[in-house]
Amino acid sequence: MAFDPEVVHAKYLAERDKRLVPGRTAIRDLTRDEHIAGYRADPFTPYTEREAITDDSDVVIVGGGIAGILAGAHLRNAGIERIRIVDAAGGIGGTWYWNRYPGVMCDVESYQYLPMLEELDYVPTRRYAYGEEIRQHLQAVADRFDLVPDALFHTGVTQTCWDDGAGRWKVHTDRGDELSCRYYVLAVGILNLMKLPAIPGMDDFGGRAFHTARWDYGFTGGGPGEPLSALGHRQADASIDLGVNERAYCGPEKRTRQTAELLGLRATVDDRLADLDCGRWHGDVVGGVQPDDLAIWLTDPTRAPHGGETVVELIDRVAGWMDSLTARRARLVAVTHPAVVRAAILVVLNAPPKSFWRIDIAPVSRTVMHFRGHAWTLRSNR
Ligand SMILES: Cc1cc2nc3c(=O)[nH]c(=O)nc-3n(C[C@H](O)[C@H](O)[C@H](O)COP(=O)(O)OP(=O)(O)OC[C@H]3O[C@@H](n4cnc5c(N)ncnc54)[C@H](O)[C@@H]3O)c2cc1C
Repeated sequence: MAFDPEVVHAKYLAERDKRLVPGRTAIRDLTRDEHIAGYRADPFTPYTEREAITDDSDVVIVGGGIAGILAGAHLRNAGIERIRIVDAAGGIGGTWYWNRYPGVMCDVESYQYLPMLEELDYVPTRRYAYGEEIRQHLQAVADRFDLVPDALFHTGVTQTCWDDGAGRWKVHTDRGDELSCRYYVLAVGILNLMKLPAIPGMDDFGGRAFHTARWDYGFTGGGPGEPLSALGHRQADASIDLGVNERAYCGPEKRTRQTAELLGLRATVDDRLADLDCGRWHGDVVGGVQPDDLAIWLTDPTRAPHGGETVVELIDRVAGWMDSLTARRARLVAVTHPAVVRAAILVVLNAPPKSFWRIDIAPVSRTVMHFRGHAWTLRSNR
């Protein structure tokens, strides 16, 4: 096929023009737009009145997110006693205090993202933790280093200046506090500056509306610790212990890739692990298939009345994949379909193809095979 860069360029421009809708990227900055300031209200922790505070600390830390908590923890380890965290939020967590919408989770592996796992002897429950687990862990870190009792929550720092004569920072808040300190740590993050799309009519909207960083479970029901849906439940229940593996593979189908992901695997797609190709029977129920054709299919592994793949062809395909593994001395895991597992068992046992239909594979089960020098073996499993 001829490649014409001019045509490709013109196509790019045409696609870009489709996105150039006037006002499409307009946003309203909630930190300044007082008309919609109600969107900033904290739905998680009741606001309590208190007297303004005037006092002196060794350190004031603005922000009780990961950065502020870690600064506090390390300063505590260094022997600093008077540490005061100040945060506009009603508690510890920063990003994870504010963002509690259903399904929020980290996109960096929990083992890297969650701080001080060794210190707290904590193992995250998931490879990518839900926000609520992260928030609770940050709370535990803050508790461990005794950072909460002196913290001022629901308190915004409005102005800070250095007093040269006193050799102290002077910190002012929106609750009238006058805090002074020797060291001043800014851990204010960047992603807590909430913005909203400028949707026409939103100022007059009479219903309930809120930003995802202020998710109102009182309105939607549910809670931040609950999985999103019944499907989420089923997926979580599907988890099985796969042990330690050096490589992971999966079939090319979307559902297979999703299952691998759910099992916490970074799997490489291998087409040889694809489900048996049932040709025109794909998606059909058994009752919709001609009885004669079905009888042929269930008794003759060399024939494919559906026009797809025969059982013998499937076994050959799977045997080829297994052959390609024998040179490696590594623990591998493959996420695939019952038909592929059956075929693999036949290869291991060197059993006749007609035994294909005699093997029953339980859903979301584990089948373990070893290559020992010159042959495969099959191990029973719990
Ligand atoms: C929805 C969401 C998902 C994210 N997911 C990931 C992820 O998966 N992986 C990743 O690496 N990063 C992620 N991030 C980025 C995340 O913000 C950082 O990873 C990290 O949590 C930032 O921590 P921090 O302590 O620097 O700031 P923050 O967590 O933002 O904490 C700053 C705190 O400072 C307070 N504050 C700010 N100004 C003031 C003031 N003037 N007075 C008083 N208090 C103030 C805020 O209320 C806030 O509580 C995500 C961010 C968001 C919003």
